[in-house]
Amino acid sequence: MEAIDLKGRKALVIGVANADSLAWWAAKHIRGAGADLAMTYLNDKAMPYVAPLAAELGAEILLPCDVNVPGQLEAVFEEIKAKWGRIDVIFHAIAWARKEDLHGRLTDCSADGFAESMIISCHSFIRMARLAEPLMIQGGTLLTLSYYGAEKVVDHYNVMGPVKAALEASVRYLAHELGPKGIRVNAISAGPIRTRAASGIDHFDELIAEAAAKAPLRRTVDACEVGRVSVLLASDYATSITGEIVHADAGFHVAGMVLH
Ligand code: NAD
Repeated sequence: MEAIDLKGRKALVIGVANADSLAWWAAKHIRGAGADLAMTYLNDKAMPYVAPLAAELGAEILLPCDVNVPGQLEAVFEEIKAKWGRIDVIFHAIAWARKEDLHGRLTDCSADGFAESMIISCHSFIRMARLAEPLMIQGGTLLTLSYYGAEKVVDHYNVMGPVKAALEASVRYLAHELGPKGIRVNAISAGPIRTRAASGIDHFDELIAEAAAKAPLRRTVDACEVGRVSVLLASDYATSITGEIVHADAGFHVAGMVLH
């Protein structure tokens, strides 16, 4: 009998805000497969929500990490180096945009707002890859989360569309650059799921309904399913997969003109 086994692997999950977070479900499944876990929380306000979740999974490392605060991301990797001496799996699940950019047209997005969203939602993944590289001494896996709005226009996704497109392109370039060191880089393009970040997108319920109606499986996906895909991609069952955008969306991305 075969089962996915991450025993002894060291995993860092960034992006847990609460029990709805896609990062939380990834953390649960990665830990469930036997990996040792490091987690972060955004700030003091987020800590009371994240700390009990980290305790529930027996996370060995729990540190604050706002990628906008100089030194905090670096401190997380320093702690990982001191405690574990290496890292095997990184799960990046963070995204942010100014309210006016998330609700407004891309046409009207300011340079500052665009840059800020890009730095937090995309460049933070590149930074994590750079910090992880010397610690992935046995190779490793970098994972991030994207959405269909990177590929095609999705009403109300606005600035996050081009930001996720940049993130997906970064996955391919990082995979190319880090592949020779045995480091695999992939994104999971998840179907729409109700989370705190998703609640900032206008007409999200309509988006979910449309996805369920058009997807080949005629339903949406849940966070648990996305978490399971993260374990698969982190595992030795996926050693041949890198530079890939894996769709965990009930097949929605293949639906073209679907008549109801
Ligand atoms: P969430 O609100 O639970 O998670 C978003 C996380 O981003 C939070 O933990 C928040 O603290 C973190 N974050 C924001 N700014 C940060 C900063 N400056 N530094 C560090 N962390 C910061 O929502 P979620 O839906 O689980 O989002 C996780 C990822 O999944 C995002 O990249 C999102 O775009 C992506 N995604 C979500 C969906 C969906 O429908 N929910 C679909 C596809 C992709």
